Amino acid sequence: MNAPTHFVASTVLTFGFLKIFSFRTSLNRKRLAWCGLLSVLASVGAHLLLDIAPHYAWIYYLDKITSWEQDWMVRESIFSLMVVLPCLYWAAPYRGLLCLVMLAGIYPDIEKVLKLNYYLMADEVLFPVHSHMGSSNDYGWWKPGLIAAELILVGVLMVLAYRWSPRGRAANHSPASPTI
Ligand SMILES: [Zn+2]
Repeated sequence: MNAPTHFVASTVLTFGFLKIFSFRTSLNRKRLAWCGLLSVLASVGAHLLLDIAPHYAWIYYLDKITSWEQDWMVRESIFSLMVVLPCLYWAAPYRGLLCLVMLAGIYPDIEKVLKLNYYLMADEVLFPVHSHMGSSNDYGWWKPGLIAAELILVGVLMVLAYRWSPRGRAANHSPASPTI
């Protein structure tokens, strides 16, 4: 799928694990380390699963905005920032953890780019099936429908990310304003 979808999926998983690991207790270093490890593994797994689902790499096929041959990276970065920035804002005080999990969650695509464009050796590839998969996996489905479905998925995941985020949970637990 497109990079923003992977970033928000990684965010939801990170916030979900943070929520579970801090349930009725405080997060010590050991719990935080387990939370980070599970989030990293789940994010990589979620990336590979999402890429199997029907999707269309619409950002890749948009018009170029620079003359750079790899201009799609600029477009992916711009759209990704639209989800990454609010997610990082909601993640305080766990922004470092979220950055790490996001990096792990997008790693299969980084590997694919390195394999296709920068000649990463076959024995250095961790996810060979993913690295040989095309950017789009549309199974012949109607492309506008696939784009709409992915955008709806991103929207739902963003709502979930906010609700499960440290900032969103703190806001929901703030004492009700006093009535006069
Ligand atoms: Zn991928």
